Amino acid sequence: MDCIFCKIVAGDIPSRRVYEDAETLAFLDIHPVNPGHTLVIPKAHKVDLFDTEDSDWKSLASSVRIVAHKIEEALKPDGVNIAMNNRAPAGQVVFHAHVHVIPRHEGDGYTPWHGKPYKEGEAETILEKLKSVS
Ligand code: AMP
Ligand code: ZN
Repeated sequence: MDCIFCKIVAGDIPSRRVYEDAETLAFLDIHPVNPGHTLVIPKAHKVDLFDTEDSDWKSLASSVRIVAHKIEEALKPDGVNIAMNNRAPAGQVVFHAHVHVIPRHEGDGYTPWHGKPYKEGEAETILEKLKSVS
């Protein structure tokens, strides 16, 4: 399969490995937001969150936590962002599921996205929709 992250798992292209276990692999992002920015991926090819089973997600989440602790202890950041882009409109560029673990520092210049308040009645409608599915 022509997937850059599958090639990283296979060792066909190089990566700087931070952590791995039977199901997951974590390696340094080649274009970091800050040094230490790490990607955590399932070793099996999954396109995005919606392509994962609960068990895939649990092993991924567990590795994300381990990597975040490594970053916390080794790099002593002021904060850490955990982010996942699912599908192109959400910013996904590599279509092998991956979670970004990003060390953050006071004044590093990256700002979180800014929300806006709900319009009258909008929150209730959204909540009903969300509660209507299992
Ligand atoms: P996303 O926009 O969430 O799909 O992010 C894809 C990420 O993969 C970007 O942050 C890239 O810098 C990173 N990336 C792409 N190719 C490589 C590579 N060969 N090794 C490490 N990171 C990569
Ligand atoms: Zn893949």
